[in-house]
Amino acid sequence: MRYVSTRGTAPELGFADVLLAGLAADGGLYVPTDWPTLPDVGIDATYAQLAAAVIAPFVGDDVDRATLDRLCDEAYATFRHPATVPLVQVDDHHFVQELFHGPTLAFKDVALQLVGRLFDHVLTQRDERIRIVGATSGDTGSAAIDGVKGCANVEIVILYPFGRTSDVQRKQMTTVDSPNVRTVAIEGTFDDCQDLVKAMFNDAPFRESQRLSAVNSINWARVMSQVVYYVAACRSLATPLTFCVPTGNFGNVLSGWIAQRMGAPIEQFVVASNTNDILTRFLRSNDMSAVDVVPTLSPSMDIQVSSNFERLLFEMNGRDGGITAEQLQRFRTTGRLSVEDDQRAEWLDGRFLGARVDDAGTLDVIGRTYAATGMLVDPHTAVGLGAVEALRASDEIAGPVVTLATAHPAKFPDAVERATGVRPPLPAHLADLFDRAEHTTVLPNDLAAVQRFVATTFA
Ligand SMILES: *Cc1c(COP(=O)(O)O)cnc(C)c1O
Repeated sequence: MRYVSTRGTAPELGFADVLLAGLAADGGLYVPTDWPTLPDVGIDATYAQLAAAVIAPFVGDDVDRATLDRLCDEAYATFRHPATVPLVQVDDHHFVQELFHGPTLAFKDVALQLVGRLFDHVLTQRDERIRIVGATSGDTGSAAIDGVKGCANVEIVILYPFGRTSDVQRKQMTTVDSPNVRTVAIEGTFDDCQDLVKAMFNDAPFRESQRLSAVNSINWARVMSQVVYYVAACRSLATPLTFCVPTGNFGNVLSGWIAQRMGAPIEQFVVASNTNDILTRFLRSNDMSAVDVVPTLSPSMDIQVSSNFERLLFEMNGRDGGITAEQLQRFRTTGRLSVEDDQRAEWLDGRFLGARVDDAGTLDVIGRTYAATGMLVDPHTAVGLGAVEALRASDEIAGPVVTLATAHPAKFPDAVERATGVRPPLPAHLADLFDRAEHTTVLPNDLAAVQRFVATTFA
């Protein structure tokens, strides 16, 4: 399997090189040269076995199949539910797929527990080291740190927006006391953090001298790993499904699109957003204009620009990297991106539906869900449930829906308690989180300062 950049000029690479590179050298994102079809997998397969089978064609010869099987087994053994990603029914036609039973309680563990192990395997084989630099609005950071904290050949620096993550999210990152782990609180927003990371990658001498690599959602291996739970849900429910995805960087919903492209029986996607609704504005009225980020109760969806949308845009442009690069350059300078009517008709209309739920709506959904089912849901999942409710009311969706539960309610206890009066307890393995010591460094939103830190902190 070979990979090309969405901006058309970076060299074609194999899986292992794409894994280590993160962002392509031309600033684009790597995608496979073609989309494989789903393998035949027996209905008695475990989640780990299904994962290895779905992922195998993307990995190609770069990781042998026995190793891939073992890495998937190890990655999903860290999940604390026997079904790994269980489906829970909330009403006649509505299921929640709980993606939060991994070590850090967010869906990002599904990808990062595997990606950390893939990194370690490939680097050991090559006798190489890398330094991961990542931006997080909360969940990616802890999941990435947990995925690589035991890796001998990986160092990791995670930037997060100062004061804009929940206490649990921050503690999960800053209490990991491992010689290869650093966290940095940036005085700015998540988009500032993401821009700093992008700028470090675009600085070629810096990137090379530091052997930089990425694990934020632009990393192909993450998108690939997330395809599996869509396939698992389709197999379990054995009927065409609509998926509702609480969306930030568009990585999760893109994985769903890939599952559909590979042959999974998926009808539609609901792209659910909070007040930071650039994607829902784009889907509903072709208006993709960046505005300032507003902090909400669902901070992992507080984004200005959804970077993974570029992969879909590349497909919409007939895989023309030149056109895609130009369009993104225009978006960068004008703050606006719109696509042609025929592109919308072919790629978006009837496939991606947008809906937005604000904080008041989020609290209302958490409260009503608890009253009706006894289930505590986190604010991100609640945005998804609220979006489904709205689109059902307007008859825009019909038939069975799976809403992805992207975080454990205990990760956002304040919002859940405000809405229900019940404070969800942390699971046993994190019960002493608030007694653990924090290690972090506060830095200004300044590229030079952050580069200096990255270059010297492990010396
Ligand atoms: C990361 C995250 C999201 C957004 O996922 P994207 O892949 O960035 O769209 C939603 N909910 C939670 C809890 C997350 O951690």
